[in-house]
Amino acid sequence: MSQLREIVENSERIVFFGGAGVSTESGIPDFRSAGGLYSREGEHYAPEEILSRSFFDRHPAEFYDYYRAHLIYPDATPNAAHRALAALERAGKLTAVITQNIDGLHTAAGSQNVLELHGSVLRNRCMACQREEGIAVVLESSGVPRCPGCGGVIKPDVVLYEEPLDENVLARAVAEISRADTLIVGGTSLVVYPAAGLIRYFGGENLVLINRDATDYDGLATLTIREPIGEALAEFAA
Ligand SMILES: [Zn+2]
Repeated sequence: MSQLREIVENSERIVFFGGAGVSTESGIPDFRSAGGLYSREGEHYAPEEILSRSFFDRHPAEFYDYYRAHLIYPDATPNAAHRALAALERAGKLTAVITQNIDGLHTAAGSQNVLELHGSVLRNRCMACQREEGIAVVLESSGVPRCPGCGGVIKPDVVLYEEPLDENVLARAVAEISRADTLIVGGTSLVVYPAAGLIRYFGGENLVLINRDATDYDGLATLTIREPIGEALAEFAA
């Protein structure tokens, strides 16, 4: 742990890249392991099918049943890892948080430069008139949420399976990683696109991996920490 403290002390442009493991300590499960199969009219769907764009377009009501039950956690609050990263940014040590999570907890913890590769459940948009809504339009409705302005179907600003990532967010993530002197990767096994690809842009001094399980990248790391990420980063939390 003193090794991590030393790396942080000697770094000026830390970038954090995080996955589902960052939010599990806030009570948000990895959706890939959540909910299991969804059954409808005798048919069974895997989460990857329900959370696909074609399923959303064909069966929006069923999509929203699953989505409200398994992807939205309105009572979740930031944990020590979120707080530590926000504190490191305030201290001028950290330049960006890049996350695969869609829960908005980094921003809730006070982080300013947050690149949400998979979007956010907190932002929602009318597919007809593009009006932007918060999460209330989803939480305070049942079935398919409709635009208060025009009645159009609301779609979460979340990247579904079959949809491309936002190119602007991806380009900013690449730029931040290429300029970083230290890259801390946490709560991801780095097997899911685009995580593994993004790591390749890092050319800085220290690659720190904080993950419960071993990853294919452990051999490249300056430091690997096999602890819950909240504990690993707790000392940096304000
Ligand atoms: Zn509308």
